[in-house]
Amino acid sequence: MDFLLTKEQKYIQKAAREFAIGEMAPVGREFDLNETYPEAIVEKARKLDLIGLFIPEKFGGPGLGYLEQAMVMEEFWKVDPGISQQLCSLTFGAEEFLLFGTDEQGKKFLEPIFTGDAVMGFAITEPDAGSDTLAAATTAVKEGNEWVLNGSKVMIGNGTRGTFMLIFALTDPDAARSKRHSIIIVETDRPGYKADPMHGKMGLRASDTAAIYLNNVRVPEENLLGTRGNGFHQLMAFFDRSRAYVSAHGVGLAQGALDMAVKHVRERKQFGKPIGSFQGVQFKIADMAVKIELARNIMYKAAWLLDNGTPDTNVTAMAKMYSARIAVEVVDEALQLHGGYGYFNDYDIERFYRAAKVLEIYEGAKEIEKMIIGRTIVGR
Ligand SMILES: Cc1cc2nc3c(=O)[nH]c(=O)nc-3n(C[C@H](O)[C@H](O)[C@H](O)COP(=O)(O)OP(=O)(O)OC[C@H]3O[C@@H](n4cnc5c(N)ncnc54)[C@H](O)[C@@H]3O)c2cc1C
Repeated sequence: MDFLLTKEQKYIQKAAREFAIGEMAPVGREFDLNETYPEAIVEKARKLDLIGLFIPEKFGGPGLGYLEQAMVMEEFWKVDPGISQQLCSLTFGAEEFLLFGTDEQGKKFLEPIFTGDAVMGFAITEPDAGSDTLAAATTAVKEGNEWVLNGSKVMIGNGTRGTFMLIFALTDPDAARSKRHSIIIVETDRPGYKADPMHGKMGLRASDTAAIYLNNVRVPEENLLGTRGNGFHQLMAFFDRSRAYVSAHGVGLAQGALDMAVKHVRERKQFGKPIGSFQGVQFKIADMAVKIELARNIMYKAAWLLDNGTPDTNVTAMAKMYSARIAVEVVDEALQLHGGYGYFNDYDIERFYRAAKVLEIYEGAKEIEKMIIGRTIVGR
């Protein structure tokens, strides 16, 4: 077992850290406050190969692994969760192409993401189908050599910015429940596609989230991604991968919060000394550091297993659930240690506090991850 990073991984980590500090730190607070889309930062990250690190070179990507993706996300999230969310979501769903798409589809749709001509998103959630993804009612009906899509999706990353979306759609309503859906690629400039931005998010406000409406949207039959009726299986395979680096979101956010807390308790004096000198405060810091270290270890393990061709649904679900949980716990204590100042938005900890909660909701609510883990251990 080797816990040491390679020279290249250390270099990537350093590049990501410097990028985040140089580009995100100066604007993070303002972009969050004003819900500003980080256009220029997105462009720079693309050019520096800091997005979609797991996407192979044959599809225009950096050709690295999930571990490198997770390491970059961790560095990004330490500095600004909102802009980092946007950078991660530029390739949200790309795994479907790697696992189930043809080479032709990969080249056509993924390559332009790395030249700046495309942005993607993965639209699964609907008003009446959240955790219960199989309840998705958006339909895709085959007419001749086209798919015709109708329905609506909510809370979709890049809904307004995306040039194409993967739509999780009902294609075979009479089949067994887990064989009813398929994944269809929909270019957003097709007639009948409409997206409305969803404003007022609690956190991650620099990222694009939208409601999508599909009204008789027609796409060619070759836009089916993977196998008809295999959409649910393909979706689960995606989560088995993406949750590894979403786990890094939690680790990074928690580490960023801890770093802020440490700086504050060293500087803030009460009772005649820095509050960091009180054992009660140091115990809190120690507890936070232990949680982060454990979360980082399982996150690295989940990513490493993926890169070594042995994905583990359980480990990935544990990594996502645990790092989201500790992110919420750590940021809560970190704000506590800031006292009343932390409650104001001129302190970054306030923004981190608002950002953390979503980690326990999206990419599978924590209860869904717990269900997966419980079922794997006990059986259905
Ligand atoms: C900022 C943001 C970005 C998002 N981006 C995307 C995106 O790009 N694409 C996309 O498709 N979706 C996206 N989503 C949607 C997200 O995936 C859903 O919010 C999530 O899956 C939960 O679905 P829901 O909100 O409908 O909650 P519900 O499914 O209604 O669940 C509500 C709560 O009920 C509980 N619960 C539900 N089912 C169970 C159960 N079986 N057992 C125990 N408890 C349960 C959980 O506590 C859960 O949090 C995003 C959401 C947010 C907030």
